[in-house]
Amino acid sequence: MIAIYPGSFDPVTLGHLDIIQRGAKLFERVIVAVLRNPNKTPLFTVQQRIEQIRQSTRHLPNVEADSFDGLTVNYAQMRQAQVLLRGLRAISDFEVELQMAHTNNTLSTQIETVFLATSNEYSFLSSSVVKEIAKFGGSVNHLVPPHVALDIYQCYAHKYQSNPNTTENIPSPKNLSTEPLLEIHNQKDV
Ligand code: ADP
Repeated sequence: MIAIYPGSFDPVTLGHLDIIQRGAKLFERVIVAVLRNPNKTPLFTVQQRIEQIRQSTRHLPNVEADSFDGLTVNYAQMRQAQVLLRGLRAISDFEVELQMAHTNNTLSTQIETVFLATSNEYSFLSSSVVKEIAKFGGSVNHLVPPHVALDIYQCYAHKYQSNPNTTENIPSPKNLSTEPLLEIHNQKDV
């Protein structure tokens, strides 16, 4: 059975990877599908997010990364998938996810949504939390794979360099270049 794991993955976190890893044990193939959403302004381009996912799932031969736009069920049908895989963290996720699953079911009865409960240690974790921490100079090394953490630090360093007016929340001017930022982030308890 083929499963699609759709989402924004901006960026992919250890919480997403936990779902992917567990999904890969349950399904013959898991396609991690990055939604191309023109209504959102992401931190990373779709191609960057696909690369981040590919690099993080190299050890999983039955996992692939792709992108799509439009209706998820149409993409699932196109990829001959029978399952939409989603993760559940909290009650707030449940309400949104249930509505989405019911809606998708009205569009195609051939596709089932399967939910995996988050692992305890990732129940608080979202891409937004990661971006919020990094934006204010905190370490995200424990929340995303190392190469993704590096991408995030570089991304924010570039942002602050190109527009110093966005640095009002950054504690010190020494954060304005990548190297000091990396030094700060490499310290565990920042
Ligand atoms: P979306 O914009 O579709 O919510 P996300 O990238 O935020 O995309 O999430 C994709 C899926 O992964 C969603 O089903 C979400 O609930 C799930 N997810 C995100 N973070 C976690 C986590 N820490 N543990 C379990 N599931 C998660």
